[in-house]
Amino acid sequence: MSGHPVAVVGAGWAGLTAALVLSRAGQPVVLIEAAATAGGRARTVEIDGARLDNGQHILVGACRHALAQMRAVGVNPILALHPVPFRLLMRRRVPDAAPESHLLAPRSTRSRDLAAALYDASRGAAMPRRLLGLPGAWRMLHRPLTRDLPVADWLRKSWQPAQLIERFWNPLCLAVMNTPPADASARAFQSVLRQSLMSGESAARLLIPRRPLGELFPEPALQQLRTLGATVQLSTRVQGIDLMGEDGFLLNLRGGATLPARQVVLATPPRSAERLLPTLPVLAPLRRNLGNIRERSICTVYLRYPKPLPELPPLTGLLDQHGQWLLPRRLAGEPHWVAVVISAAETYPAPDAESRWRRVGRELAETFPGLGEPEHGRVVCEKMATLDARSGIDDLRPDTRTALPGLYLAGDHCVRGLPSTLEAAVQSGQKAAAAAITDGVPDLAQGPD
Ligand SMILES: Cc1cc2nc3c(=O)[nH]c(=O)nc-3n(C[C@H](O)[C@H](O)[C@H](O)COP(=O)(O)OP(=O)(O)OC[C@H]3O[C@@H](n4cnc5c(N)ncnc54)[C@H](O)[C@@H]3O)c2cc1C
Repeated sequence: MSGHPVAVVGAGWAGLTAALVLSRAGQPVVLIEAAATAGGRARTVEIDGARLDNGQHILVGACRHALAQMRAVGVNPILALHPVPFRLLMRRRVPDAAPESHLLAPRSTRSRDLAAALYDASRGAAMPRRLLGLPGAWRMLHRPLTRDLPVADWLRKSWQPAQLIERFWNPLCLAVMNTPPADASARAFQSVLRQSLMSGESAARLLIPRRPLGELFPEPALQQLRTLGATVQLSTRVQGIDLMGEDGFLLNLRGGATLPARQVVLATPPRSAERLLPTLPVLAPLRRNLGNIRERSICTVYLRYPKPLPELPPLTGLLDQHGQWLLPRRLAGEPHWVAVVISAAETYPAPDAESRWRRVGRELAETFPGLGEPEHGRVVCEKMATLDARSGIDDLRPDTRTALPGLYLAGDHCVRGLPSTLEAAVQSGQKAAAAAITDGVPDLAQGPD
């Protein structure tokens, strides 16, 4: 029987969760991360002396597993996150006129109030379509889809008025899925809507971080892991995983070192998971599926203003402009900064970072008279921010257990029915750790099934 530790590869929210669950269960754990800091795609970065994030993140009350893990490492979500009732305020620049505002603001998440808010928000649509959209929206929220299709087709089949689609459904889909409605999986979008909007007021609440992302989970998680006796190796890239007969696995680390492990949780994004998997025929279908998962980018434009900003709503949608959502960073302790999110940013190119932030700043000044022009801007683009959550994506998602006993997968790409989110990452980490604990030390002498 192997006395080696369990190796967790990748210290994003999935790997950190897996390592914590294993360590709390008394398992010896080594967590290995290629980067110098933990957090992966949800981490703190320092920009011009301000503690900002690699990308603006938002959670919802329905992220139960992520919130529970934050609590378990000593972070109080009530203090760390600013709750906002589900309410979408959208603004549009209108040349030579006051900006136009549209509001989707249900009084509660009860069907009657949702219907009234949707009816209100579709102002301008012709009457039969405005009314027909209501039973269509009811079906969208109440009848789980048995077959996947693109969100754009789903909205059309559900008789949603063009005004509602353009003002609310399309921006919401792009924000939640990071995939344009023409491609996005309606099943995953519906599942997010049902888990949030159909599960009560607190599940629907938007939760905006009041602290840099690193403080929400990655940094306290590392601290707890060390207290529990886990070994954490940052700045250490795993280059390959070999089988070591009945002794488990041998991880090849950059620089030539090796690390024996009795079980491995591979919590890296699909591309690196595909490269790291042992090249055994039994793993070929898994490698093929992982290789077929594509990514999409997100750019976050940070703008700094000379004076602390006037009161702005915590979240405003931007219509017909380069930026899509505006979030003042006052909440996170940076009153001179705002973040503007551009989802699926590969479809909204810019010649360079400076033209991007200047354009976003100019358009914001026209949308919010009184805001003025920013004095400085920075753009953080994550090319592989999320998976491309297109219709049919669930067919490519891997199971937690691989065909090789003792080798498990985690990461936001592993949870069916959810787009790439912190919640999916945390759920996947819990599941992988639970499977490793349940299975115990694998008998690799028998070979893979
Ligand atoms: C800009 C942006 C905005 C986002 N907005 C939101 C949002 O509002 N709400 C939300 O819920 N989600 C959002 N997300 C998605 C969310 O951040 C991800 O779903 C989540 O962080 C994924 O976590 P993970 O642990 O699965 O993967 P990752 O965070 O990618 O972690 C994988 C880790 O593995 C490491 N690694 C890779 N290869 C190796 C190797 N060979 N050896 C060792 N280590 C390796 C990587 O360095 C990384 O740290 C956003 C993402 C981005 C980028």
